Amino acid sequence: LAHACSTKAGNSSQASFGVDLGGTSTRVGFFDEHMQLRATRTFPTVAPAGPHSAIARMAEAVQAIVSELGIDTVHPIGIGSPGPINLRDGILGSLPNLSGWDNFHLRAALSQATGAPVLLESDANAAAIAEWQLGAGRSSGVESMAMITLGTGVGSGLILNGRVWHGMFGMGGELGHATVAPEGEACPCGSRGCLERYAAAGAVVRSYRRSIIETGAPCTPHAANPDSLTAHDVSQAAEDGDAAAVQAYDTFGHYLGIGLSGLINLLDLPLIIVGGGVAEAWGLFSQSMFESVRHYSVIYRLLQPTQLLVLEPDRTAIVPASLGPSAGLIGAALLSRLPSKI
Ligand SMILES: [Zn+2]
Repeated sequence: LAHACSTKAGNSSQASFGVDLGGTSTRVGFFDEHMQLRATRTFPTVAPAGPHSAIARMAEAVQAIVSELGIDTVHPIGIGSPGPINLRDGILGSLPNLSGWDNFHLRAALSQATGAPVLLESDANAAAIAEWQLGAGRSSGVESMAMITLGTGVGSGLILNGRVWHGMFGMGGELGHATVAPEGEACPCGSRGCLERYAAAGAVVRSYRRSIIETGAPCTPHAANPDSLTAHDVSQAAEDGDAAAVQAYDTFGHYLGIGLSGLINLLDLPLIIVGGGVAEAWGLFSQSMFESVRHYSVIYRLLQPTQLLVLEPDRTAIVPASLGPSAGLIGAALLSRLPSKI
């Protein structure tokens, strides 16, 4: 009876590694039992060099951290990867940012290279887990929520009754390819009018360029070189009062709201977290997003909070993410600590 102090209660107190595999860079981090980041390594993902080379770099980073911290036991590794992934078998699908990596057995390869148990999740789901447990959803006590990640593409992660909703193969929750404009822009996925064509970084830039051409608006310094424009440039221009840039984010919010409306009507969720690089322009698109959600979601009209951005019981909150770009890494490290396989 006196030995309870030496026991560790389940997996939740076990330290772990997280790996955030991105199209341009990969980050490996070691988190202690309190989820404090103790050591990290970041290196470029050299996609053309192929997945085996990337796995070797990851294993080297894990080994370097093990040496640095003097870790003497094997710790589980969680990895978040761009989707789609066949999670059942741990195999990558066909990835636009990692061409030539199709059908790679990511989970098995990383486990073999490190000798550690590996848990695989899509990057969007990993970010959702992190925001749910330790970010904007922390202390909300909700068991169901969605996170939308707005960046180069639109990712989404869905947590229902405390578990990630994976669908049959792990391809569930692809809100980026929900139709928000049936006669709209063609999407590389083969469909038309997908949310990703309207609510990702490239969409802001396209919309801004269109608006400049249509209105003949004068170019602001940010728009001086329209070929190399980024969504961030457009947000800077909007902050400076450029009407075309303001309009571009307004349109972005409008379509994002249509996408979220479908999600709310379908699932009656208490919490939706909006993250990713483009979401940093929250102040520029949230008004039209909320207007659009009110317009298109009957459930939101019934359950909207009395104050925006405040979590109220029995109300649908739509709030910005709070963990920033580290959400994917943190979520990956959490994979081994969640109560059951998710
Ligand atoms: Zn699509």
